[in-house]
Amino acid sequence: MDQQLSCVDLAAASKVLAASPRVQALVKHTVGADHFPEALTLMTSGRLDGDLGGAVHDLLVDEIGNHSDITWSGVIRTPHDDFPVHVNVYEGVYWAWGMEYDPIGYFLSRDDAIDYARSAWGEVIPDDEEDDEKEIGDLRCPYCDTTDHCDHLLLMVDTTFRQAEGGLLYDAFNARWAATVGDADDPDFDEREPFDKLLDEVSALADHESRSFSDSALGMSANYILFYCRSKPRTAAAAKAFSDG
Ligand SMILES: [Zn+2]
Repeated sequence: MDQQLSCVDLAAASKVLAASPRVQALVKHTVGADHFPEALTLMTSGRLDGDLGGAVHDLLVDEIGNHSDITWSGVIRTPHDDFPVHVNVYEGVYWAWGMEYDPIGYFLSRDDAIDYARSAWGEVIPDDEEDDEKEIGDLRCPYCDTTDHCDHLLLMVDTTFRQAEGGLLYDAFNARWAATVGDADDPDFDEREPFDKLLDEVSALADHESRSFSDSALGMSANYILFYCRSKPRTAAAAKAFSDG
């Protein structure tokens, strides 16, 4: 595949965006109802010319930059470090993001964007193919690359001993789990199923999950799942939704 050909500029991508009701509403709100038909014509023709075209161009750049979802992720492996790489999607338009690299343009198919992300920046390991799970202290936030706890961490949970260990949901999760276990009178009560249900609830609120483990000197091993949201407001909204749930 020729990646130069599959990558397009924003004007070409705007032909796809023009079909999105969400984008149409945004453009209409920004340029006003009078100018909207002309703005839509510029987008569908793939030519963002003139003042109006320029205004639409800038609007779409901001919108795509701020409101895309991650649809694929991996890490760029270098001898000393791993850097996160994402493919993002906004209303049918895809773009590849690598930490410390400038985005090169837009793709009109997810496969093209992933092909680019996997080949443009050296050795890239997709997250779902990463076979060697990282030990808990080596695990990095996919959004800010820290190994410490950060604003993106929704929940760090020990799935071996069934307890929250960190994250914004720490208190709420342990409280709801204690209530669940406390309600069970049955001596044969199987904790696994309700625990998995609670994890499913967190998973639905998170943007990313990583699995990890720790080995203690005593040979006691524990497994962890870390749930992340891609921004601080999303972490806060997820915590509120979980506490209300
Ligand atoms: Zn972070």
